[in-house]
Amino acid sequence: MAALRTDGQPPLAADVVVAGGGNAALCAAIEASLRGARVLLLERAPEYLRGGNSRHTRNIRYLHDERTAYVTGPYPREEFLDDLLRVGGSATNTPFAETTIEESRRVPEWMARQGVRWQQPLRGTLHLSRTNLFFLGGGKALVNTYYDRVLRLGVRVCYNAAVTGVEDRGGAGCAALAEIAGVRRTIPCRALIAAAGGFEANIGWLTRYWGEAARRFLIRGTPYNDGTLLAALLERGAQPVGDPKGFHALAIDARSPQFDGGIVTRVDSLPFGIVVNREGRRFYDEGEDIWPKRYAIWGGLVAAQPDQTAYSVFDAKAWGRFIPPAYPPYRAETIPALAAQLDLNRDQFLATVEDFNRGAPAVRRIDMSRLDGSATSGVAPPKTNWASRLDTPPFFAFPVRPGITFTYLGVTVDARTRVLTASGAAMPHVYAAGECMSGNILLRGYLGGFGLTIGTVSGRIAGREAAAHAMGRDAGAAAGAVDRVRA
Ligand SMILES: Cc1cc2nc3c(=O)[nH]c(=O)nc-3n(C[C@H](O)[C@H](O)[C@H](O)COP(=O)(O)OP(=O)(O)OC[C@H]3O[C@@H](n4cnc5c(N)ncnc54)[C@H](O)[C@@H]3O)c2cc1C
Repeated sequence: MAALRTDGQPPLAADVVVAGGGNAALCAAIEASLRGARVLLLERAPEYLRGGNSRHTRNIRYLHDERTAYVTGPYPREEFLDDLLRVGGSATNTPFAETTIEESRRVPEWMARQGVRWQQPLRGTLHLSRTNLFFLGGGKALVNTYYDRVLRLGVRVCYNAAVTGVEDRGGAGCAALAEIAGVRRTIPCRALIAAAGGFEANIGWLTRYWGEAARRFLIRGTPYNDGTLLAALLERGAQPVGDPKGFHALAIDARSPQFDGGIVTRVDSLPFGIVVNREGRRFYDEGEDIWPKRYAIWGGLVAAQPDQTAYSVFDAKAWGRFIPPAYPPYRAETIPALAAQLDLNRDQFLATVEDFNRGAPAVRRIDMSRLDGSATSGVAPPKTNWASRLDTPPFFAFPVRPGITFTYLGVTVDARTRVLTASGAAMPHVYAAGECMSGNILLRGYLGGFGLTIGTVSGRIAGREAAAHAMGRDAGAAAGAVDRVRA
């Protein structure tokens, strides 16, 4: 690795430094800039890969009272909170969750003011057309719109710029420690907003909790979220939040790239058939609950299997009923011919299918929109819904591995997104938004489209609070001002 140079560079300074270049960082930069702060945004990725995991997104969950041209019905506060409590259980920080939900009501209007446009709801396996708003052009269009916006607001953006730490300078503010295009820089500022994602791309860090299994994990999003700044903040005394082993992880096609495969690698066939590991055995109830509430547990389940590999096996009755991943399935006219293509214990696999078919009803049409109660009998583990014999050729299989979306370990913040230390005091001048603080709201479980809700709400709060702090204004006054600011 080339030695870092520190000399000969023009000085950099700002009122507010934003570390990160995804949704949370961009929302924070917009808000801070709208309040008159000089903002410097440091994005670790090169320009053509800017936008972190946010550039893979497609929709945002939000509170609304009625059907519009873009959502098929209302999504009231009680239902939103109930959904959240059901996936997060007692691990949900309810007051924080309530604030985030309430603030989400205003998010679409704010996004539209920044230039984001909507599209008709997409139909698909996750059934989000009532609760979530889909933005036109997906995540790339979203982040491109926001970059365009911040540049027009006068935010200075540096790419290939990794923030590695923060230095407290007392009354004078702080300094962001960064490496920009291989050059070490110390950037004086009044406030720093950490919006640099989780540590999901840091396989070494993941092995601390998952052991060698983590080496076979695939990362659905950006390779740049390696937790460098998160680690630096924790080292400086920030109070951790969230289960270090916790993550949002799906079953994705085992042939996907190590990083950045995005949405097209997701395998949604799992509830339509059976899932077997390399020993040829089933290991979980594939019909436990409707898919939107269960898809995100399968990454963890597959992570616990030998070689972190499994196969989703189904028959012709399911083909065409879900959006397939970018890779073709293995396909054969008989189960033994399919088994011959898979890297698993074939005898055990054949016995598993036979056993399953003995205990499963002969259902012709699987109805995924509801828990249909079509269950196996005398099969362990049971399949409690959508059980249907594998009896209609051709037969198919997708190989799957854990696809990690983002990690839950983060830094504790207060309602103003100030990073807190173990004693509960605010770390001077440091704020956090997005994935790196989402554990304050949801310590486990996940609701589709809530990552952007958290990032947009917390990013906006962090932006206005950091700007108020940097400019010597009372932050409490800024807190109520967010909706009075019009672009
Ligand atoms: C395939 C996929 C699909 C998804 N779909 C959806 C969806 O439809 N809806 C939804 O709500 N959520 C979705 N998510 C989750 C969503 O992407 C995240 O919850 C959300 O985008 C997080 O935003 P963020 O700004 O916190 O992090 P990110 O968008 O990941 O941004 C982090 C940024 O920090 C930068 N960075 C990292 N380290 C440093 C450093 N040291 N210094 C400077 N910069 C650094 C990175 O380059 C990146 O730009 C999806 C995720 C994936 C992977």
